[in-house]
Amino acid sequence: EGMTLVELAKRTGKLVPTLQNILVNVGEKVDSEFDSLSIDVVELIAMEAGVNVRRQHSNEGAEIHPRPPVVTVMGHVDHGKTSLLDALRQTSVAAREAGGITQHLGAFVVAMPSGASITFLDTPGHAAFSAMRARGAAVTDIVVLVVAADDGVMPQTLEAISHAKAANVPIVVAINKCDKPAADPERVKFQLASEGLLLEDMGGDVQVVYVSALKKTGLDDLEEALLLQAEMMELKARVDGTAQAYVVEARLDRGRGPLTTAIVKAGTLVCGQIVVVGSQWGKIRAIRDISGKSMDKAKPAMPVEIEGLKGLPMAGDDIVVVESEERARMLSEGRKKKFEKDRLQRISEGREEAPEEQSEEAPKRVELPIIVKADVQGTVQAVTDALKSLNSPQVFVNVVHVGVGPISQSDLDLAQACGACIVGFNVKSPPSSVSLDAARAGIKIFLHRVIYHLLEDVGNLIVDKAPGTP
Ligand code: GDP
Repeated sequence: EGMTLVELAKRTGKLVPTLQNILVNVGEKVDSEFDSLSIDVVELIAMEAGVNVRRQHSNEGAEIHPRPPVVTVMGHVDHGKTSLLDALRQTSVAAREAGGITQHLGAFVVAMPSGASITFLDTPGHAAFSAMRARGAAVTDIVVLVVAADDGVMPQTLEAISHAKAANVPIVVAINKCDKPAADPERVKFQLASEGLLLEDMGGDVQVVYVSALKKTGLDDLEEALLLQAEMMELKARVDGTAQAYVVEARLDRGRGPLTTAIVKAGTLVCGQIVVVGSQWGKIRAIRDISGKSMDKAKPAMPVEIEGLKGLPMAGDDIVVVESEERARMLSEGRKKKFEKDRLQRISEGREEAPEEQSEEAPKRVELPIIVKADVQGTVQAVTDALKSLNSPQVFVNVVHVGVGPISQSDLDLAQACGACIVGFNVKSPPSSVSLDAARAGIKIFLHRVIYHLLEDVGNLIVDKAPGTP
């Protein structure tokens, strides 16, 4: 917290007068170069000076309390990650309060009879996990590695192990589909052991539980194993003071605007606070728990939905509380500029051929035909709206067909006819015959459960088609 201009000059390798100029430009004044600058001002100056900053939160002097673990489910495709999350969600607080009907909000909480609780991140797979980590968000405490008992260790199982190891996050193995006649859990254990996982009943400390997401058996064992793992890790957090929080998901609600699911890692987030989130900002208008109950505060490891941001943040973005709207606006603009600069730099590094300026004549508007399939009509609408937000003078996102349900052969035919790509949101993977045909015809299929992942992918496609456009 806080730093003087002199210190900042030392850390950034810039001269004090240079920094002073920047200060004046961002509308701040300091009387002496030895005055302490607030952390927000430090970030602003550092950004203008082209230096990366990372905020560190100190826990000094604060009371530290135990907190629930935050868990991510990973594993090979079709091994039952989604089914397992669905089964666990059915046992969650929200499901109980909503009579079993729950929405996908990015996270949910399972409360145990003992009073302990577990927070599950609701986006399976390591893509989400690594996207968060890429933004420096260490949200996950424990990884549940799902391995199908009949299929055994597969390529993405190994990828998941690598991701967890790289992040230094302990694994609990859930051998799934134990109800199947072809299930062979012993073989799975042998395979995992030969991949270097030190399983518990072979003298290591990686717990293994046997579950069936379909028959909903072994869920208690899994939850117990996770709590035991959490206990060994002695997870703790500061409860009082400024919140340190991360975005796990964000989406657009037609009535309420951008909604952000966040998890507080330390401190307390309070309704009415002004926050900068990634390059977005806003004043927190409402905080709701995962069952939709309105609350005025959010404490560590508790997933909450926040209303009031001006735009959609991304998974893994940090949530920073600042003192004024003006400061928030400035920080968010500074970050946007910096992100754009970094992005352009990445493009220029990635492409030897700089995108030709389309000289003289007006630039042509590139059309991107898209077919949207989603689980329910509301989602279809939200996805369509989100995709249209990518429209610009250079790019025309043309949603040629929308529908409810999985991607079918007829969607494929249509895509082929109009050169479209297909977006499947919150829908099951298409039958393998469809996937094969799509691959053969060179038709891009994007399957997502999280809006910004989708927007990221489509954004990349736009960059490919129309280099140099946002
Ligand atoms: P994901 O790709 O890892 O998310 O896998 P899904 O959850 O979509 O499951 C893939 C398929 O396996 C689906 O057809 C599920 O019904 C099936 N499945 C998942 N869990 C079980 C289980 O415990 N037993 C059996 N027999 N089938 C399961």
